[in-house]
Amino acid sequence: MSLEERTRGYLNRERETADAASWQAWHAGKIKEICALGYARAPAVKRLLDTAGARPEDINGPADLVRLPVTPKSRLAAMQAGEPPFGGWLAVPVNELKRIFMSPGPIYDPQGRQAEYWGWAEGFYAAGFRPRDVVINTFGYQMTPAGLMFEESLLELGCGVLPTGVGNTEVQVGLMRDLGVSGFVGMASFLRKIGEKAREMGLNPRVDLKLEIGYVAAEILTDSLRTEVEEMFGMLIRQGYGTADCGCLGYECREANGMHFTSNAYVEIVDPQTGTPREPGEPGEVVVTLFNPVYPLIRFGTGDLAVHTEDSCPCGRTAPRILRIMGRVDQITKVKGMFVHPSQAEAVVARFPEVGAWQIVVTRENNMDIMTFDLEMSNTPADPAVFAAAFANAVQEGLKLKPVVNFVPAGAIEERDKKIRDERQWD
Ligand SMILES: [Zn+2]
Repeated sequence: MSLEERTRGYLNRERETADAASWQAWHAGKIKEICALGYARAPAVKRLLDTAGARPEDINGPADLVRLPVTPKSRLAAMQAGEPPFGGWLAVPVNELKRIFMSPGPIYDPQGRQAEYWGWAEGFYAAGFRPRDVVINTFGYQMTPAGLMFEESLLELGCGVLPTGVGNTEVQVGLMRDLGVSGFVGMASFLRKIGEKAREMGLNPRVDLKLEIGYVAAEILTDSLRTEVEEMFGMLIRQGYGTADCGCLGYECREANGMHFTSNAYVEIVDPQTGTPREPGEPGEVVVTLFNPVYPLIRFGTGDLAVHTEDSCPCGRTAPRILRIMGRVDQITKVKGMFVHPSQAEAVVARFPEVGAWQIVVTRENNMDIMTFDLEMSNTPADPAVFAAAFANAVQEGLKLKPVVNFVPAGAIEERDKKIRDERQWD
């Protein structure tokens, strides 16, 4: 299939290219509907609204939704343990479910009987998957929903699926070669492993395998990994973002310039401490209200930290885009009222190759936060003072905070994995 055929069109043109007013109406209608349904059928939703002093008829759209507190994923396991199996969030009897999974937490994940339950088809289509693609699905098929959640949407789209699951790289290569597999679903790092195995077997992945399109998720996709795998196989790689609880939350289009919010849920990027919406460009937690009549999670905090944009996309889709997932909210530290995440600091440090290892130490003196960058240098700068000033400027630009720069001897940073050490004492 030509690249042109793979990159044009929409699965649901009307929804995906809707104007701002139609999105507003769509979200308002869905939010209203799911709050009313959840209130009537899911005890956890009733408790959520009752505690906030809201009646279902008070929640008529996004602006009312922010009255309800965020329920963090970290609390879901405890809620489920206290009120098994779904913590009161399930809106149908358990024996009406199609499947029940368990993901780390442990958290039980329900699957209802409706078609395309997890909502990945929109993302697959935007990535370039088309009916009659033969797709190898290397996500796990046991216990967690990963494998089946992608498979259900691929089948719905009209693709054929090889449910290979994880591992067995040599077998995966053989299947790809023998069956003319055109699509891959899994982790990009695993696809690279498959390519390396193919080379070991004396094959050229670009020539002997027919992969044209790949859909990857579940790990941070760096530009270099994407390019490497695309060139290795001569294929397109697009990524999606979602969770076992929610299914698809965002997906890349042909432009690969961020992940459009799904239309199957109301996605917010909020201040992790107050739950109020963040402006485009400001890091915040991904919070989700599912339009799912089986599992009406309302303002569910995924714990993922992301930056989004509302700029228009050349593909014609109008949903905002997650520009990048920056890590987990629980890795955040607040310094002088600003959020600092290890990944933001990492991006700054990466511009200074002479830095070998680093750690941020946060202290407090005279009721003032002090952020110190301890730096182990792999090359001693010619003029340390000039280097320190340049480094401090870069940090100021990237983190909006002025640091103290502190050179330490090699080996002085002990817990190298811990990027931020908070030494503040609070009474
Ligand atoms: Zn787009």
